[in-house]
Amino acid sequence: MSIFREMERRDSIRMYFCHDPDVGLKAIICIHDLTLGPALGGVRMSVYQTTEEAIRDVQRLARGMTYKSSAAGLDLGGGKAVIIGDPDTDKSPAFFRAFGRFVNELNGLYITAEDIGTAVSDMRWVHQETRWVTGLSKRMGGSGDPSPVTAFGVYNGMRATLEQVFSSDSFSGRSIAIQGIGKVGFPLACRLAKEGARIFVSDTNEVVLKKAHQQFGAIVVPVDEIHTLDVDIFAPCARGGSINPKTVKQIRAKIIAGAANNQLEDDKVQGPLLEQRGILYAPDFLINAGGVINVYQELARGGYRRDKALALAAKIYGRIKQVINIASVEGIPTTEAAMMMAKDRINRHKKKRN
Ligand code: NAD
Repeated sequence: MSIFREMERRDSIRMYFCHDPDVGLKAIICIHDLTLGPALGGVRMSVYQTTEEAIRDVQRLARGMTYKSSAAGLDLGGGKAVIIGDPDTDKSPAFFRAFGRFVNELNGLYITAEDIGTAVSDMRWVHQETRWVTGLSKRMGGSGDPSPVTAFGVYNGMRATLEQVFSSDSFSGRSIAIQGIGKVGFPLACRLAKEGARIFVSDTNEVVLKKAHQQFGAIVVPVDEIHTLDVDIFAPCARGGSINPKTVKQIRAKIIAGAANNQLEDDKVQGPLLEQRGILYAPDFLINAGGVINVYQELARGGYRRDKALALAAKIYGRIKQVINIASVEGIPTTEAAMMMAKDRINRHKKKRN
């Protein structure tokens, strides 16, 4: 027996509780905003201690997608899903097919994709039940792993910050500290090294550190020191919250530009602090939009084209410049300027509609 229940609808936020006891699936789909288009956002699988914790997480993530897609110029709303469970032990094809059936019931209002704890291979099972899924494998006509496109977007965003601080967007002779060299951080580091930057890296995984050192001469730094280096750019590419009340005071880089989501523990606290300290911060949801830009292309008429996804991700350069400009004109932190830009596009759309 499956339960598909709309839990609440407040303002424009809709929450759906999905329960399929036959396969042990418990998931929540949250649609935060539909002004610009269908709500696209990945499905995260994680162990939550309470349902309230899962609700808080899905709402925060869905809200984030609304502003990320708006700021990236995509015709998408914001939504996200969470599956309450252990990604290492609770997955099965039947499990993801059940999730796919719930997604299908929303008839395109919510479009799913992979996220932390889920993978391109899981989306294959979701796709058996619904067409409202992106992030499919290349073999299935999808776009595969979005990480290289995310890395390309971050690279372009970094260029805009260099231009602002050094009046040149060249990486030659620049020093860059990358926290986390996984699916995004590694190809990013590789490219920056090729363009003449001196690369410092940290990771909890010894294998990737060794590879980075051997492949492009990366200098390995302990995990608790990477953010303290006196470099041109500090690039958080691991987990969220690495810039918090303690670490923000230790940062000596001139620029922060990286791929991680929710880099600042609290935008309203660390955003102004970084501005006061003269550190240029490239807002995370703007610079790391390459992933959603990539899966968005799967919805394009005629199917996914990598060249189009890359061309759109390259526009992150201009968007970061735009935000820096708004922040300077308004005298506000870049965090606030990015939010202003994202909300402004949604509000203009609402006005046009009414
Ligand atoms: P990943 O898991 O492949 O890589 C993360 C890396 O960080 C891993 O190598 C891990 O060992 C390392 N790490 C973990 N804790 C660390 C620590 N304390 N210090 C240093 N390294 C640590 O993830 P990814 O796909 O490369 O994504 C990186 C970040 O970018 C995440 O925050 C993710 O949410 C965000 N992001 C990714 C994409 C994408 O397309 N993959 C898109 C948008 C945002």
